[in-house]
Amino acid sequence: MFKKILIPIDLTELSVSKPALDASIELALQSKGALRLVTVETPLPSSFMEYIPPEFDKTQEERALAELERISDGLDFPKDNRSATVRFGGIYVEILAEAEEWGADLIVIGSHRPSMATYLIGSNAKTIVRHAKCSVLVIRP
Ligand code: ADP
Repeated sequence: MFKKILIPIDLTELSVSKPALDASIELALQSKGALRLVTVETPLPSSFMEYIPPEFDKTQEERALAELERISDGLDFPKDNRSATVRFGGIYVEILAEAEEWGADLIVIGSHRPSMATYLIGSNAKTIVRHAKCSVLVIRP
């Protein structure tokens, strides 16, 4: 049913993404669809710029892409039907933008169990569910 499945990955919390990856593989194998992994890096505030090397963003992007590709290569899923990309900016803004630009028909997000903290502050998962133009599957442990 779903042909283009986008999986946002938080590289600092891979345990949350694992069940989302497993579910995505199952769905994509059924539909002979494609998987795309996306991670969003936060740009440093411009006031820091004079203290860091000019190539910092490039290095950050290369490191994140290498990590995503390592995860993608570890998946039991055909290489030709999977891809990975890194974006810079706000997490849910960039995930929603990637979903639109790539033409995802499903976003699969791993999420913690709801807690008082997420109730009060809100979460990326909640915002993506609310604003995505495609279907969204939230995988909880
Ligand atoms: P919660 O578990 O409380 O719902 P989030 O709203 O941050 O927490 O949802 C976690 C999911 O959000 C992750 O599994 C991942 O899909 C996505 N996510 C969080 N941070 C990033 C990031 N930097 N890049 C890509 N996706 C992210």
